[in-house]
Amino acid sequence: MEVNLTSFSSSSSETEDIRTNVLILGSGPGGLTAGLYTARADLSPIILTGMELGGQVSLTHVVENYPGFPDGVGGSEMVELFQKQAERFGAKLEFDSAIEVDLSERPFRVRGYNTTYLTDSLIITTGATPRHLDIPGETELTGRGVSYCATCDGWFFKDKNVLVVGGGDSALEEGLFLTRYADSVTIVHRRDELRAGQILQNRAEQNPKINFIWDSTLTEIVGTEAVQFARIKNVKTGEVTEHDTDGVFIFIGHTPNTQLFEGQLDMDGAGYLKTDNRMHTSVPGVYAAGEVADPHFRQVITSAGMGAAAAIEAGHYLDSLND
Ligand code: NAP
Repeated sequence: MEVNLTSFSSSSSETEDIRTNVLILGSGPGGLTAGLYTARADLSPIILTGMELGGQVSLTHVVENYPGFPDGVGGSEMVELFQKQAERFGAKLEFDSAIEVDLSERPFRVRGYNTTYLTDSLIITTGATPRHLDIPGETELTGRGVSYCATCDGWFFKDKNVLVVGGGDSALEEGLFLTRYADSVTIVHRRDELRAGQILQNRAEQNPKINFIWDSTLTEIVGTEAVQFARIKNVKTGEVTEHDTDGVFIFIGHTPNTQLFEGQLDMDGAGYLKTDNRMHTSVPGVYAAGEVADPHFRQVITSAGMGAAAAIEAGHYLDSLND
């Protein structure tokens, strides 16, 4: 099938509207894999890259757990390879973001910054954003000691000392993972009681490499080339102390990027899109893959797998429209 470029006489549109079979929102591993699969099915997909080509993995220094790369692969290099492979079969990337969607009728209507896209099927891979502490030094030192992913970056902290911020399952699970590499893992939690489940709490408390700093929050992360120390404030006493550290891992929750779909697609209590096990959302013809629909695994390989599944299902759906 060809991508049809059709002019619609919408007065709000600044340029020609674009009509397509498959529109994919997001260009992380889920989106680019969905692009590859739908392109190879001859569906001429359009991928809206969103603000960050490649999504979260593009910020990862090295990915060492994706099969086929025995020596690891840089996050941004991996995205380039995914993109190249999808484009080789005809996927088209648009450097645009969806700012409004209407899923009430087909073709679904997605408004970008300059273009409105009309599509018969939609694959949503808009990802999730790790919550930030929003303190001085955090952005500047991201990738230089500040991280939101122990699986991605833990290896770089062999024999080092790290701080972990948060008291939920992620903080404890990732903190325990970091003890494989780091000499010491200090969990800084803003209360004196953990939110994490009891099993993880027991494991963390019994692990000799893990220490806790209670009732405390980070107020600043300091370093020039890399993280050197953090300022930590006791929220009960107000006292601020400096802690030398090589890294700061922040696990204070994720926010799925689903605000656009509120009231149109079913979501769970945390805002993740609900899908069945074939990636179908609550609207026929609309699929979701990757972290936007997955609060649990959050891996490149699982997102890519979900993207492939969503693409296959979108193809079946488009076939059914022609029956
Ligand atoms: P979460 O359960 O929302 O926990 C976030 C933690 O960060 C809480 O301890 C919270 O403190 C703290 N926090 C939030 N904002 C903060 C801020 N601005 N400054 C300092 N601390 C802050 O998030 P999560 O741990 O990512 O888990 C998300 C979901 O995935 C949960 O349902 C969890 O059970 C699930 N999960 C399960 C597993 C597993 O089963 N193995 C693993 C990972 C995640 P407070 O406690 O004071 O609110």
